[in-house]
Amino acid sequence: MIDQAYSQPVEKVLHDLQTDKYGLSQEEVTLRQQQYGTNIIPDGSTIHWSVMLFRQFNNLLVWVLLGAALISWFTGHLMDVVVIVVVVLVNTCIGFFQELKAQQAVSSLKSMLVAKAKVIRDGQKQMIAAPELVPGDILVLEEGDHIPADARLIESKHMRAIEAPLTGESVPVPKHAESMPSDTPLADQSNMVRKGTFIAGGFALAVVTATGMKTAIGQIASSLNTIKIGKTNFQKKTDVLARQMAIIAIISATILMVVSLFQQLKAAGVSLQLNRVLSDISALPTEALREAFLISIAALVSSIPEGLPAVLSIVLAIGANRMASKNAIIREFTATETLGAVTTIITDKTGTLTQNTLTVEKVAIWGYSHWDVTGEGWSPIGQFLYDQKVSDIRQYPPLYQVLKICAFCNNATIRHDQQQDSYSLVGDPTEGALLVLAAKGKMQPSLLPHIVRHEDMPFNSDIKMRASLLQEMDQHQLLVAGAPEKVLDKSTHIMTPNGVVPMTDVHISDMRERIEQWSSNAMRVIALAYKDMEIAPKGIEPHEVKQLVFAGIVGMIDPPRPDVKEAIMTCKKAGIRVIMATGDHINTAIAIAKATGILDDQHGNDTPAYTEKQLLEMDEPDFENAIMETPVFARLSPQMKLKIAEKLQEKGELIAMTGDGVNDAPALKKADVGVAMGIMGTDVARDAANVVLSDDRFSTIVSAVEQGRIVFNNTRYTSFFLLTTNFAEIATLLSAVALGMPLPLTATQILWLNLVTDGACTSTMATEQGHGDELLSKPVKPNESILNASILPLLIMNALVMSILALGSFNFYYDGTPDTLPHARSAAFIVMAFCQLFNVFNMRSLTMSIFKIGLFSNTYINLGLFVSVCLQIMIIEVPFFQTIFGFAPIPMTDFVIMACLSSITLWAGECYKLIKNKRLR
Ligand code: ADP
Ligand code: MG
Repeated sequence: MIDQAYSQPVEKVLHDLQTDKYGLSQEEVTLRQQQYGTNIIPDGSTIHWSVMLFRQFNNLLVWVLLGAALISWFTGHLMDVVVIVVVVLVNTCIGFFQELKAQQAVSSLKSMLVAKAKVIRDGQKQMIAAPELVPGDILVLEEGDHIPADARLIESKHMRAIEAPLTGESVPVPKHAESMPSDTPLADQSNMVRKGTFIAGGFALAVVTATGMKTAIGQIASSLNTIKIGKTNFQKKTDVLARQMAIIAIISATILMVVSLFQQLKAAGVSLQLNRVLSDISALPTEALREAFLISIAALVSSIPEGLPAVLSIVLAIGANRMASKNAIIREFTATETLGAVTTIITDKTGTLTQNTLTVEKVAIWGYSHWDVTGEGWSPIGQFLYDQKVSDIRQYPPLYQVLKICAFCNNATIRHDQQQDSYSLVGDPTEGALLVLAAKGKMQPSLLPHIVRHEDMPFNSDIKMRASLLQEMDQHQLLVAGAPEKVLDKSTHIMTPNGVVPMTDVHISDMRERIEQWSSNAMRVIALAYKDMEIAPKGIEPHEVKQLVFAGIVGMIDPPRPDVKEAIMTCKKAGIRVIMATGDHINTAIAIAKATGILDDQHGNDTPAYTEKQLLEMDEPDFENAIMETPVFARLSPQMKLKIAEKLQEKGELIAMTGDGVNDAPALKKADVGVAMGIMGTDVARDAANVVLSDDRFSTIVSAVEQGRIVFNNTRYTSFFLLTTNFAEIATLLSAVALGMPLPLTATQILWLNLVTDGACTSTMATEQGHGDELLSKPVKPNESILNASILPLLIMNALVMSILALGSFNFYYDGTPDTLPHARSAAFIVMAFCQLFNVFNMRSLTMSIFKIGLFSNTYINLGLFVSVCLQIMIIEVPFFQTIFGFAPIPMTDFVIMACLSSITLWAGECYKLIKNKRLR
């Protein structure tokens, strides 16, 4: 690593770093990796396990419990103290392991988000993982790239960088390769680029001067967190959920406290007179007061879902990991759930709906019919057929010119893997297709060393063109490739078999007709043009691309991905609208929309597609109408994409939107779920997105939506489980009091039941897989709360079943004398515990029978149940625990009978689902 690279001339910097423009050799890289380590900044967000363990104790409810333990201690109830402490410990362990697992899930996700870097090594441009960079590597930087290490520019064309992460300045700053005075402050070193910043535009080569912690951003040690955690729709919902559950808990605990106090008064033989209640209560023996107090504390503690946040984070973590295994990598945890609620997907066409291996099939030049081009994919082998006969390029000088533009107005590289004899693309597929076309005509830049490219303007999605400046001997030429209408607009002349002539309306309408025709056959049409220049300008400005000579057009096919049609059908069934928003020609867009099913017969004779120009001419109501009804938008600019997204959100839609370019970033940020392309997307787009598709496929979005819905269901069902069991318990206790019976459970038994028995279940319920019906219903409303009335029938049913069974078993053993109380309580406890365990099966799906889902289809849940059952048997049957909890031995046969009786919870649940499904049909 070297100091002050900005103040040295380029040659000196390269020399000091012992490298050159052809990059390091692989051996040298290996050596340097050992010397300098990996290019990463350790992430401060991982929490040490001991801190995490300690944090579990820092919880209000734990303090309440410990307070209760203290009271028990002073009133001489040592056993209760032991139970409370054990419960606190077990509960802490469950919380701890859940949090640990969630953290592991996060870090495994982060490892999937490894940034890439384009480098030159061994004289070849290649894509490597950014952590593998070493000082001396030559970086290739283009629009939208993430800067992976600190580097000194050695060549620069119009380079502008966004350095906001480092300097806070959001306006792009120009960069160049000149050396600067040695006292230039960091923020003004405009020949350096810094790790963690972005390229807004232009092109540059740079040599890496520092990596990892040695970079400017590494030294200020502010780590770039790859996974953001903000307050989203889902968090708002879970906040509401936690509040609802807490209120329910407080109300029921208060009722329980009041009722049990009255019961104690009654037991003490006090006749109830309202004006004397308070003095009567204070006259009660401390023993009675303590029990009433402990019962309500137990009810409160056990029904406040303090485990809920941990359960939620694990539900999200598991969902995010499942999505990752299906190639959708979540950058913001809660996006996992938001995806499930998406009502509209706005997708682009190229690469997402289509395969993105573009192949030029046709070339046309005015005055000729056209050439068909053979060959497929990125392989540069193919022929030009004119009237179905193989034609020789050299006979057609205009064709030569077209191929020259294709080859030189281009930034893509086709790599040949010698061993496997396969070809792969580095760069933009449209440019790749042009490059392959040129190579098929033997036009390869490497074979034409006398042609030098001086300047380059990468594809600009506002003007929809790209340009390069070329020197051949002492002649300069501006070469342009881009969307055909745009290029036609900027052309004044046209190439014909008889040379260049001024362009007339005949030429224009002739070309237009051909463009229309090709694009309605789903072809992407690109026009090529050029301009001879007297003197070479310094740089190419977008507004200076004009007065061109129109050279010709090429038509490339990009077949739809095979699985898209089905994915779109699935979306329709799932109540999700799919909109195509593309920069391509309207005819191509419609053709692909038809082929993929985005456009179907249902759309009738209405205009199925609008271009941006048409949208801009509409008044507000028409615009709204178009946005709400039309499935295809073509020739869009990123600004219009943003406008469409905003309008849809205004209308209450929850949208997922795909994007790849720098200009897409605002729309990706604006969308509820921004989806960036992992392969073709720019780093800037990925940074603005919540989800990155590592395979760029549309169908991946759909399977992520499915996972999102599973996440929502799991959250909902887990909280339903907590609610139904807690409610049923309280109902049982209250009915006992109402019927004048002693309380069927002691405070410590309640605690155990709710924290240990339930805890073991809820943490495994988060692992429930989908049941295949997630994408058959409409999305839940964006603002729909997790807790809703749909749970009421099960809630009431559970309460009824549990109260009857528990009180029945209690009465079976209880004969009115205190001696039988431990037996009776043991029985009630067994019934309540098993009812809860059977209730888990009810809550795996609110609609589907457990026998359809498969009793054994979720091993984790069954394991959790097994552990839970063992724990129940242990505390009831093992003498040591028996005494602690105040149980009495229950014969095994009775135990089994009661367990079987408890299964009524399950049968009742099954009946409910059966009736509900019948009614739905
Ligand atoms: P999309 O990728 O959705 O088709 P873009 O905004 O990327 O939309 O492209 C718009 C149009 O610009 C394309 O239809 C094509 O005509 C042209 N175009 C796209 N990429 C390039 C490129 N690299 N070079 C030249 N022209 C391009
Ligand atoms: Mg594109």
